[in-house]
Parts: sequence; C-alpha cells; structure tokens
Amino acid sequence: MNERYKILFEPVKIGPVTAKNRFYQVPHAMGSGNDMPKTRAAQRGIKAEGGWGVINTGYCSIHPSSDDRPLPFSRIWSDADIPAHELMVEAVHEHDALAGIELFHGGAYAPNRHSRLTSLSPSGIQQRPPELDTMQITAPKVMDSQDIKNLIQWHVDATKRALKAGFDVIYCYAGMGFLPYHFLHPDFNKRTDGYGGSLKNRVRLISEIISSMKETVDGKAAIAVRISTDELLGFKSDNAESEAHELFELIGELPDLWDLKLSEWAKECPSGRFAESGHMRPYNSFAKELTSKPVVGVGWFTSPDVMVKQITDGVLDFVGAARASIADPFLPNKILEGREDEIRECIGCNICASCYNGGIPVRCTQNPTMGEEWRRGWHPEKPKTKSTDSNILVIGGGPAGLEAATTLSKRGYRVTIAEKEDQLGGRINHESILPGMSSYQRVIDYRYNQISQSELVETFLGNELKKEDVLGLGFDHVVTATGSKWNLSLLNEKLTPFNIDKMPNVLTPDDIFNGAETKDEILIYDFDYYYMGGLLAEHLTNQGKKVSIISPFPSVSPWSFMSNEVNEIALRLHEKNIKTNKEEIIQIIEQDHVVTKNLVSHETRETKYKTLLIVGNRVPQRKLYDELISEGNLSDHGIKSINNIGDSNAPGAVVHAIYSGHLYANTFDEGAQESDLKFEYASIQ
Ligand code: ADP
Ligand code: SF4
Repeated sequence: MNERYKILFEPVKIGPVTAKNRFYQVPHAMGSGNDMPKTRAAQRGIKAEGGWGVINTGYCSIHPSSDDRPLPFSRIWSDADIPAHELMVEAVHEHDALAGIELFHGGAYAPNRHSRLTSLSPSGIQQRPPELDTMQITAPKVMDSQDIKNLIQWHVDATKRALKAGFDVIYCYAGMGFLPYHFLHPDFNKRTDGYGGSLKNRVRLISEIISSMKETVDGKAAIAVRISTDELLGFKSDNAESEAHELFELIGELPDLWDLKLSEWAKECPSGRFAESGHMRPYNSFAKELTSKPVVGVGWFTSPDVMVKQITDGVLDFVGAARASIADPFLPNKILEGREDEIRECIGCNICASCYNGGIPVRCTQNPTMGEEWRRGWHPEKPKTKSTDSNILVIGGGPAGLEAATTLSKRGYRVTIAEKEDQLGGRINHESILPGMSSYQRVIDYRYNQISQSELVETFLGNELKKEDVLGLGFDHVVTATGSKWNLSLLNEKLTPFNIDKMPNVLTPDDIFNGAETKDEILIYDFDYYYMGGLLAEHLTNQGKKVSIISPFPSVSPWSFMSNEVNEIALRLHEKNIKTNKEEIIQIIEQDHVVTKNLVSHETRETKYKTLLIVGNRVPQRKLYDELISEGNLSDHGIKSINNIGDSNAPGAVVHAIYSGHLYANTFDEGAQESDLKFEYASIQ
C-alpha cells in the first residue's frame, strides 16, 4: 500500500463497535428493498468483500404509516421482516465489516399509497415535491401526544428487530423531508407544545428517539443519526453561530455517530456534470469541532487522495460513499494492495440514481455487475474462467467493444480489437469534451488500463473491417460493436420519427463532432430524451454562438429527471441565455426558417435559423453485421458465432453499451445469452 493512504485503514470506534477502516458505505437505496432480499444481500455483501468497513441498508421504514410504495424501500415492520435482513447482515459479517440499518419514518413525505394510513407530521404541513410521481393530494395529520409516543415506540420496536437481525449500527434518520427533520424545521413545525418553538424544543423529539434507542440496544450496537445540515446552517440562532451549531451544542454527544447530508437528494447527489468532488464540504466541515463522536459525510469522493484530505483536514472521520462503492465495490482493497490505478472510478452519470427513481435494483455505467451479483452470479473482479480456447474478434472499440474485450480477456480468452478510428473510445471521444462531461473519459481509461496490461488483447487502430476481411481472418467468434449514428429526421404528430433528405445548413450531432461549420444563429430541434440537446446548446453557446432550442416535451432533456439533472439543465440553459420553446414539433423546414406546431394549442409559427441542428434519434450501424449473417455458411470460414452488441444492436446510453458488452463476454460461450438469468419471486408460505 502507498504509505500516504495508510490513514484510510485506521480502525475507528463507533460507540460500542469498531469499524476496521474509514471506508463507510452510507445508507443508500439499492432498489432491491425487502422484496428482493437475496439480491440486496449480494449487492451489499460484495462491497464488504471489497473492503468497505461499514455497509448500511437503504432507508428502512419502521411502520406502515411510512409506506413508500411503489418505490423499492426496505421495511422492518414486524418480526417477519427480520430474516430478509439477516441475509444481508450475514453477507456483510462474512467479510469482517459492520452492518448498519437506516431506520426511517417519512412522515408527511410518505404517500402511504398501499397502507392507506394517514401520513403524520408535526403541524399538518404538506411536503410539496414538484414531481407528479411523488405529489400527494392529501395533507398529513397533526401528531398528538399519543402519536409522538407511538413514533418513539416504533423506533424502539424496530431497534429490537434490528438487534435480532444482527445489525451493529442502527440509525435514526433525521434528514431530508422526513418526520424527525420536519420537527427540526421551523417551516414544518409550528407546534406550541414542548416539541415546537425554540430549537431546544424542536430537537426534543430526536433527542427522545435517540435516548430510547440507546437504552434499547444497551451497548450491543451503535446508534447513529443522519441529519441534513444545509438549511440549519442558514437558520439564525441567538445562542450559537447557526441552528446547526446550536443543535450540536444541545445533542452533539448523544448518538455514537453523526452522518451529515443535505436536505434535497438532487442537491446532495448531483451528477458529475454539475458538481465537483468534495462539494459537500461547506455543509459538513463545521461539525467535527462540535462533537467528539465520529462524523461521516459524502461528496462524490472517487480518488484516494481526496479521501485522505477529508481526514487530514479534520472534516470527516469516515469517508462516506454511495456511488464510489457502486462503481467499484473493491475500491478499498485496491488501495490496500497498492492497485489504486485499477479503481473503476465513478463517472457521476447518476444512472444508479435513475434506477432508484425507476423502482429497480441499482445499475451502474462503470460496473455492469452491480445488481447482477445474485441473479446472474456476476462478480466485479472475477468473471468465470473461459470454457474453450477460442479466439475472438471484437469489431469497434467504443464502450461496448472495450467492455467485451476487457471481460473476455479477464476470462482468459485471446481477443483482437479492430477499431476504424485512430483511437479507442467511440462515442466517448466526442461526448467527453462537451461541458462537464470529462469524467465520462473514465469509461475508456479503466478499460484501456486493463487491456493494456493483458497479454491476451491485441488492438489494431485505424482498421475499418469489411465483410471479406472478417471472413478471411480465421477467428472462432466475431462480435460487432460498431455503434450508432444520429439520424436526420423529424417527428410526426404521433411523435414517431420519419427520415428527411439532407439539406444545406441542417446538421446532426455527428456533423458537429466531425467539425461541420455552423452559421450563427443556431436552432436546435431536440427530441432526444437525454442529455445531448442541452449539452450541445451549452457547448455551442460557449463558442460564442447564439442558440435556441425547440422541444416537443415540457422540459429539455426530460429523462434527466431520473438522473437528478433536469433542474440543473434548465438552470444552465437559463444562465447561458438559451431560449427554449417547449411542446412544439417542427413540421416544415424551409431554407431559412422552420414552421412549428404547438402540441397543446395547435397554433403554428415560423422561426428563422441559419443552422438547424436536429438532435433526434440514433440508428444502429449494423451493415457489417447484416452482411456477415447473410453470408450463410460462416462455419466454412471457421466462424462459430457472430453477435452484434451495444449501440449497433440497440442505441442507448453508455450504461446499456457497457452492459451489453459484459453480457456478451460472459455468455457467448453458453449458447443462449439469457442462460444465467434468474428472478427472485415471493413465495407463499
Ligand atoms: P458503443 O457505445 O456501442 O460502443 P460507439 O459508437 O461508442 O458504440 O463505438 C463504436 C465504434 O466502432 C466506433 O469507435 C467506430 O469507429 C467503430 N467502428 C464502426 N464500424 C467499424 C468497422 N467496420 N471496423 C472497425 N471499427 C468500426
Ligand atoms: Fe457512478 Fe454512474 Fe455508476 Fe452511479 S451509475 S456509481 S454515477 S458511474
């Protein structure tokens, strides 16, 4: 191990338990909840195997009055829920790590769509999210003194169950818009009894919960508190620098550990496009001076040097991570073994966050095995060994081809990559130079680093293969990963695309990437769901061009809501003075103007342009694959199989291309590609 990282491996006491090192996987939802206990245990267990010292569950509801369905939350509502948690605890303990559980009551935030119990709150004030899927049309009830007693008792009952399941660290969750946090927050807490008014009163509930939980565990587990500090830091206090400071003066020594976070998830977990590593420092650097208890915080830490600095600067005791542990469950062990150059560094794309938002187990762009540990038996570091001595030709060195080559070579197969361009990387080479996207280069860096150390991989650049080349090369297996191209198309009123002829000054993103000249003013017609339209608008504006956008959707890049980016994108476009006209389709393109139709009012209007950039749909580049499969008898040429992966099969985000490459590499020698897929069904007992 590099000496300067030694500090990361010091043991740290958390009340009655001790973590073996400072690598702390903070509570974060993994999309598997209690309905997929085996998936969940394997997702968390792999991180323990990779060296993380503390592994926590995601938010775990303590009572049906905090029912977050359809989101994939965990629960510990009754003793019947204990065995599902035991699976995870065992998987974590097997590797000498501590297992933590984040007990949670959502209060006014909890929609209770399934339980149909009334939501609870200090003062009957609704949590008002702007998104339709979390909006509620009922107000929460005002908790009376019995409700408060119940809430404390539910924490106690859940703590007893957590102890039975074997957890070492048990949380009280007083962050974001959840119930204990609403008691802290003067906008949500208008009470006139002993639980409202001064901070001393507003903190009373949390204080009583922590004390009861501590009494319950009786030294057998640590009690942690997760709290949002950003808003409290802004609230004035008569007794201290801010209410956050005063809170620490009041109860700083009460729990065994403080876990600091922000009050809004999208702000705490922004994509790499909109945040730097360590972005949480302004909100958590104050706490350590005010408590002797260990402090954990996050901040998109991916580099061990940044992690060390958080410790040596006295900001944190534990390096908290969600994304870094998803992208590379083996990050701690790689540092421990002096292999930090092999870390699969998180790119900050927030595809993982999108999975939680979508109610499915977490998937990761960088780590295609995440979420597949149980159902496919995939391991991020050790793919199963090869079953034959075959050699494989990978055509195309973008994300799909590179992931296929990397995993095939780890399995022991000889691989040759042929890439048309003079460098590996495919679409990443274009996209990573756009504003805020440089971290996407890590997709290539990690894989390039792996294959360049392998004697089994040969790479031929500047090598565009044609059908005849492939047939004559003598490979056992051939896989095409030849990518996609942006299409020149418009949408009809059913919002399906139709191709249009090439016209002067009408371009696609590929034309921009290939250096096409753009005449000011640029009109972008963006009907892609994801980031490209807004990104190119920002890129071209940075070059001094005047840019405006037309989109058929109510927001630009609407799918980016899933990756916590949609509001940031809107703000960026606003800051750059990029005018956006929404809910419009272009019906006619003339030489210097377009005719658009508003999808709501059906009114038409004309907009002038000098360059029209259409960011529409992508089409697979599968000509080579189609020519090869139509060849008929491939076995005459010694070819046993031919497959098409990544964007040349079905254009998608980088995560899909990487997954497709990994799936191929793991299954091409098993016949059917789906052969190792199993599902976790609930059984009737
Ligand atoms: P994906 O995301 O599916 O990996 P990309 O578009 O990023 O797709 O990468 C595809 C890569 O395939 C590009 O780098 C492209 O230059 C390369 N390519 C396309 N056709 C050929 C070919 N016939 N021979 C070699 N390389 C090719
Ligand atoms: Fe990081 Fe993206 Fe993986 Fe999430 S999905 S852990 S943001 S690389």
